[in-house]
Amino acid sequence: MIIDLIAGARPNFIKIAPLIRAIQKHIDSGVNIKYRLVHTGQHYDNNMSSQFFRELNIPDPYVNFGAGGGTQASQTASIMIAYEEFLQKEKCDLCIVVGDVTSTMACTIVAKKLNIKVAHVEAGIRSHDMTMPEEINRMVTDSISDYFFTTSELASNNLIRDGINESNIHFVGNVMIDTLNHFKPKFKKPQIWEQLDLKEKEYILLTLHRPSNVDDANKFKLALEEICSNSRDIPIVFPVHPRTLKTLKELNVAHKNLHFTEPMGYLEFNFLTKNAKVVITDSGGITEETTVMNVPCITFRDSTERPETVAIGTNELIGIDVSAIKPTLDKLFEGNWKKGGIPAMWDGKTSERIIDILVNELG
Ligand code: UDP
Repeated sequence: MIIDLIAGARPNFIKIAPLIRAIQKHIDSGVNIKYRLVHTGQHYDNNMSSQFFRELNIPDPYVNFGAGGGTQASQTASIMIAYEEFLQKEKCDLCIVVGDVTSTMACTIVAKKLNIKVAHVEAGIRSHDMTMPEEINRMVTDSISDYFFTTSELASNNLIRDGINESNIHFVGNVMIDTLNHFKPKFKKPQIWEQLDLKEKEYILLTLHRPSNVDDANKFKLALEEICSNSRDIPIVFPVHPRTLKTLKELNVAHKNLHFTEPMGYLEFNFLTKNAKVVITDSGGITEETTVMNVPCITFRDSTERPETVAIGTNELIGIDVSAIKPTLDKLFEGNWKKGGIPAMWDGKTSERIIDILVNELG
């Protein structure tokens, strides 16, 4: 059996690492599987791609399409053309896609049109915000996939509501947490820790990269100023995503406590997450990591496709109106943040469950 494993962007690399380990376990025990790691090249900078391969022990890709850059449509098209050519040379029996990036959707469409079965890992999550490119990627991918692996009962229910046959939906937990648990002992202090003389629970970690927050330069600047002026004079560390950097360059934001860095490696970033007073973010994956590490998290968005991080975890969704920043930070500094729990099945064994199910079904 040949399995293609698709990865294109930073959050994908974090999700495929444990899937590869689980596949390798089956190979080592004599199961006849071959897998091909297909890197679409959607993210290509060292600090958004290769660094994650090295740190998370991901083997070199079988192929890299180099399909980075460009608009949503041109990137989708480049990935589709490259993957179709690749499959025409040698088909696979199963295509595994993860998450909700352009590569997820593009490769799903190509595989399905060649009558190849597709398994979607992290299926069924919905923000119900159709202005997010990721929401469109999720809906298209889920509308034509064959196997659905979900992180929550809620995500499973979204799929059932969309008419997916229940026997193809498997609530298995969260592969991001497989990676988090596996690599927690290896988290490492970044250089900036000493440079800024950071102390446990005495700094804020900030990441923003969604179009709704960073594409409008004025709005972005207002948000940064509001965070700075309500941060009680503790340092704010902001690893800047490449798409955020474009807007940031137009802005003139400087504050003595605001420290910009390059995007960080996984081990250093999660060291900072684990020890932060609070993480302010618009990322989805980070809300899951803060939930599991019991670190307060403020999501600067109107919606979340991961409501369990709010209902069970440490995450609070405050919307994108800057006026919500002050009362939320006041509550945090007054020590009134909720205590979180860990959602069901987020136990570090999700990838093994997924590959066991697939080997059973297809083997
Ligand atoms: N991350 C990282 N370095 C950073 C910022 C984030 O390693 O400088 C990791 C983070 O721990 C999480 C993932 O990248 O696992 C989240 O990726 P991103 O925010 O790009 O995607 P999203 O979750 O919003 O889809």
